[in-house]
Amino acid sequence: MRPIQMVDLKQQYQQIKAEVDTAIHEVLDSVAFINGKAVQDFSQALANYLQVKHVIPCANGTDALQIAMMALDLQPGDEVITPSFTYIATTEVVALLRLQPVFVEVDAKTFCIDPAAIEKSITPKTKAIVPVHLYGQAANMEEIMAIANKHGIAVIEDNAQAIGSDYYYKDGRTQKTGTIGTIGCTSFFPSKNLGCYGDGGAICTNDDELAAKMKMIANHGQKIRYYHEIVGCNSRLDSIQAAVLNVKLPKLDAYIDARRKAADFYDQAFAANNKITTPYRDSNNKHVFHQYTLILEGVNRDGLHQFLADKQIPSMIYYPVPAHRQQMFAAFGSGENKLKITDWLTERVISLPMHTELDQEQLNYISTQVLEYVNNN
Ligand SMILES: *Cc1c(COP(=O)(O)O)cnc(C)c1O
Repeated sequence: MRPIQMVDLKQQYQQIKAEVDTAIHEVLDSVAFINGKAVQDFSQALANYLQVKHVIPCANGTDALQIAMMALDLQPGDEVITPSFTYIATTEVVALLRLQPVFVEVDAKTFCIDPAAIEKSITPKTKAIVPVHLYGQAANMEEIMAIANKHGIAVIEDNAQAIGSDYYYKDGRTQKTGTIGTIGCTSFFPSKNLGCYGDGGAICTNDDELAAKMKMIANHGQKIRYYHEIVGCNSRLDSIQAAVLNVKLPKLDAYIDARRKAADFYDQAFAANNKITTPYRDSNNKHVFHQYTLILEGVNRDGLHQFLADKQIPSMIYYPVPAHRQQMFAAFGSGENKLKITDWLTERVISLPMHTELDQEQLNYISTQVLEYVNNN
C-alpha cells in the first residue's frame, strides 16, 4: 500500500507533471513573472468557470478577505459577523482592520454559520456578514442573503474550502459558491481543492464598481501607475502560480468527483456506527469535501488520533481552538461569547485523510482502523 497522506500532493503532481512542467517553463522563458499572460488567462478562465463577471487574483486567501473588507469602506468599530468555528484567517482580517468581530454559532449538522444566529446578532453597527463554506459545504446562502438584503448588509463569502461547489436554490436555480454574496474570496494554498504550488488567492464579484476598487486596492491603490488614489496593499498572484492553476482548473470537477467518491466510501463504512456521525450533506449544495470530518460521541479523540498515527494514518483536528477562545481576540471582548455548539463541535471533530489520490486499499485500511479503535474503546 502507498503511504497515506492527509493530502497527497506528490501523487497528484505525478499525474500532471508533464503539463505543469511545460506551463512553468513557458513562464520562465517569457520572464513575465508578474502579471504575465498566465495570470490574465487564469483570471478569465476562472471567471468563466464560476460564471462571475470579475475575478481579481491576489497573493493569498487571507489578503482576498482583507481586500474585500477594505473595499466595503468599513470604519473602525463597525461590526462584522463571522462564525467562530473557522480557520483563523476569516476572523483575523476583521481585527487587523480594527473592525469588531461578532462571533456567532454554526449549525451542528452542516458546520456552517447559522442564519438564525446571524439575525439575532445584527445591530445598527453591523456592516458585513462572512459565511464560511467550511470543509467544502456551503452555508445556507439563500437565507443569509435574505437577511443581509433586508438589513442592507454586505456578504463576503469565504469560499477558500469550497471552490467548485454548486449552490442549489429552492426554485431550482444553481450558482457557484463564492459568486452569491457581494464578494467571494478564495485561496489557492497547495492543499486547497484548487491549489497552486505556493501561495495564491482570488476575489470575485459581479459588481463593477467594487471590482474596480478591489483591483486598485490589491495594487497599491493605483489605477494609473504612480498615482495612488486610495490606501491599498501589494497583493499579486504570480505568473508561475497562475500557470499551475491553468493546468489544474480544467481538472477541478474531476478532482471534486474523486473527493466525493472517497467521502462516499467513508460514509458507507461508518454508516452503522452510532459513535460516529458522518458529514451531513445539505441538499442545498454540492459538498466538495475539502475535509472529511467526523463527529465522535463517546470516543477518546486523542486516543483515536494516536492509534491512527501508530498505524501510519494521519488525522487532524480542524480546528482545536475556535476564534472566540483565541487569545488574539481577548481585547475584542470575545471571551464573553457563549457558543455552545461551537465548543461542542470543537471537542468532537476529527478529519480523516481526504484528497484526490486515495485508492480503495487505502480507504479500506483507514476505515477499518478507525472502526477497530472506536469499537474497542
Ligand atoms: C485557507 C483558508 C483561508 C486563507 O487562505 P490563505 O491562502 O492561506 O491565506 C481563509 N479561510 C479559510 C476558511 C481557509 O480555509
